[in-house]
Amino acid sequence: MKRTNVVVVGAGPVGGIAAYYLAQHGLDVVLIEAGPNCAQDLRASTFHPPTLEMLDTLGMAQPLIDMGLKAPVYHWRERKTGEFFAFDLTEIADSTRFPYRIQCEQYHLARMLAAKLQDAPNAEVLFNHRMIGYQQGPDSVRVSIETPVDILEIEADFLIGADGANSIVRKLMKVEFEGFTYPEKFLCLTTTEPLEEHLPGLAPVNYVSDPEEWLVLLRVPSLWRVLVPANEGDEDDYLRSDAKKEQVFGRLLGKPEVETQHRTIYRVHQRVAHHFRDGRVMIIGDAAHLNNPLGGFGMNSGIHDAFNLCPKIVSILKDGAEAEPLLTAFNEQRHRQTREFVQAQTIANMEFIKEGNAEEHRLRRAKMAALIENPEARREYMLRQAMITSVRAEAARELAAAEM
Ligand SMILES: Cc1cc2nc3c(=O)[nH]c(=O)nc-3n(C[C@H](O)[C@H](O)[C@H](O)COP(=O)(O)OP(=O)(O)OC[C@H]3O[C@@H](n4cnc5c(N)ncnc54)[C@H](O)[C@@H]3O)c2cc1C
Repeated sequence: MKRTNVVVVGAGPVGGIAAYYLAQHGLDVVLIEAGPNCAQDLRASTFHPPTLEMLDTLGMAQPLIDMGLKAPVYHWRERKTGEFFAFDLTEIADSTRFPYRIQCEQYHLARMLAAKLQDAPNAEVLFNHRMIGYQQGPDSVRVSIETPVDILEIEADFLIGADGANSIVRKLMKVEFEGFTYPEKFLCLTTTEPLEEHLPGLAPVNYVSDPEEWLVLLRVPSLWRVLVPANEGDEDDYLRSDAKKEQVFGRLLGKPEVETQHRTIYRVHQRVAHHFRDGRVMIIGDAAHLNNPLGGFGMNSGIHDAFNLCPKIVSILKDGAEAEPLLTAFNEQRHRQTREFVQAQTIANMEFIKEGNAEEHRLRRAKMAALIENPEARREYMLRQAMITSVRAEAARELAAAEM
């Protein structure tokens, strides 16, 4: 039977990072992906400063920066008046080496990682391989994988499930995926239309508030993305129709006949697995937690999971550290971070942007205006939304635990 140190399931950005970290630190890794390549879908596009710092330790920040778009400024905008509040991350340049967001589609990172792993002597990437089961022994875990022609068994020291929202690893762990699903769907339209020519002063990232229909306008190197909530009763066929597209761009730009490249519908969830670990099996990324995209925390926090877990696995397998306390700490630290920061902040961001009556909207605008005028509050807000506050808090707790 094939033997390896770690099987990672899922070659999305989170599984790719986990596998690459482990391989870079001298462990044997097999990365299993059900699809024929890393999926080229329109999901994460924002990489926050702490994530860039983590990627930099693997030499992966610069390639991403080269491929993406640097966005030091993001806006909260008022749709009706065009008024905007600008948050400039260069103001927190004393807190990070990367005082900007990088806007780059997540599949670029996943594909770069898969290519690097394919060239590494101690790593293997198996596309068109679907993980279907596992069995744990006292010192190892046996992973069953469906290939195009048969069933492959691999014995490993550890199994990491980074297999996304419908994770089979999480289902096999029989863990509750607690939380809720938003009633409305989200529609993401992309276009090469230069939105900045229609909406003066537009930043690369814009959260646009409106009592009737909020939206997010995001720039990636080749496209603008327009994210809008759908009405609860709207059918998918209507959401993908020209009529809907014309309504969105007509209201936004006064120009309904804009050409779109993609029209994608998403269901959005706030869910956290009850626990992220079962013996030698761990889940990270969307397999372990899901949140709405406001703030761009889903993939980033999944990458942070990988950077919490993988050094612990390296300590266990390379330095002979005791597994139980380290893996227990991974579960507790990342579960806490997910609940206390990612879930809480994304729910708050959604509450803040979404529709309401005119009075609620006036209060939201007043709150944002007061925040932007107060340098301390503005700085605190930017550090939190850039994930710097939460990453520092976790690092401080980890240090305190190590010193006890
Ligand atoms: C519209 C939208 C915008 C978003 N924007 C942002 C953003 O700006 N920033 C951010 O941080 N997050 C964002 N997110 C969230 C982000 O896309 C996800 O958090 C991220 O994709 C999670 O990565 P992952 O690697 O955990 O899972 P995925 O990217 O879902 O990858 C999982 C992989 O596992 C594979 N797989 C599944 N089952 C199996 C199996 N049994 N065997 C083998 N392989 C399997 C799948 O084929 C897939 O390739 C956004 C999401 C949406 C919907």
